[in-house]
Amino acid sequence: MSVLIFAELDEGKLKKSSQEAIFYGAKVADMLGTSATAIVIGQADDSELASAGRFGATKVLHAADGKLNEPNGMAYSTVVAAAAQQESSKVVVLAKSSLADAMTARLAGKLKAGLAANVIELPDLSAGFRVKSSIYTGKAFAYNDLKADVKILAIKKNTITPEETEATASVETFSPALNESDFVITVKKTEKATGDVLLPEADLVVSAGRGLKGPENWAIVEDLAKALGAATACSKPVSDLDWRPHHEHVGQTGIKVSPNLYIAAGISGAIQHLAGVNSSKVIVVINKDPEAPFFKSADYGIVGDVFDVLPRLTKAVQGL
Ligand code: FAD
Repeated sequence: MSVLIFAELDEGKLKKSSQEAIFYGAKVADMLGTSATAIVIGQADDSELASAGRFGATKVLHAADGKLNEPNGMAYSTVVAAAAQQESSKVVVLAKSSLADAMTARLAGKLKAGLAANVIELPDLSAGFRVKSSIYTGKAFAYNDLKADVKILAIKKNTITPEETEATASVETFSPALNESDFVITVKKTEKATGDVLLPEADLVVSAGRGLKGPENWAIVEDLAKALGAATACSKPVSDLDWRPHHEHVGQTGIKVSPNLYIAAGISGAIQHLAGVNSSKVIVVINKDPEAPFFKSADYGIVGDVFDVLPRLTKAVQGL
């Protein structure tokens, strides 16, 4: 009876959020006096799979059927449900992502499980099985008492900081039966967003808004992002105006990010923007208007002109 963790791959590597999920799952396994098994779907080499052991998994089940190369919420939930049944897992952990969003409800249906999404703490076992989750875009918390025999926890990014060991996990091939109904929806092609650092996974984000005045000025944003090794992001009007691609738009209607550092340049801080960034660990706001609402949510604020401040920040980072 192990805790099962679905660990998502990105180009054959475990995603950072999956490393967090494995570490979280291993902690839950410790609390329950059992072990942690990861299920990985898609192509990855054995050393990468075994590296799940560094974060606390003792075993990895690897489903590498060629039909599963493209992420597919329907088929992937069948695979994870089959793994949970094989391992008699009572707790299944995933990192919240768009793929996980396409899997969790299906998985809960297949396993007749209780489901909590956006989980932000380890479960409280003194209260049965109570998990705290973030709701209303981070403005409130919910405490969920999961009473079903099987519990699914979709954890929010940055919920836990993994500690690594030298351990490696054993790797077993896993080939559950799949049928046509698992492929009613097929993913034809996955296109990777441009940029060196993937926004949803980024630890550092440099984001800019309408204060940049036009797409021709984005070099100063990209320069700082490059110096920091950060992803670039933008406000909604910026992508609506086609100054930047839509996959960079963060907020209520865009991507939700939880980096360690979010730098917002020339963004007013509307509530819909904050909804996508307010779980960042540290927020730095650069705005020439001292009354800009974003300053209320900032850990550090710089009142100044982005065209002056951004190049100076880049120079300072390059000089480190
Ligand atoms: P503005 O509000 O125009 O702000 C520009 C800021 O730049 C100002 O604060 C200004 O002082 C500053 N500035 C100007 N020049 C300079 C300079 N030279 N140096 C420094 N600062 C300067 N928005 C999102 O971002 N994401 C969403 O997901 C989202 N979803 C929405 C959903 C709905 C249903 C609705 C109604 C709106 C949504 N919005 C969203 C839009 C949101 O309400 C704001 O309109 C938007 O975030 C404003 O973008 P901005 O801050 O780039 O532009």
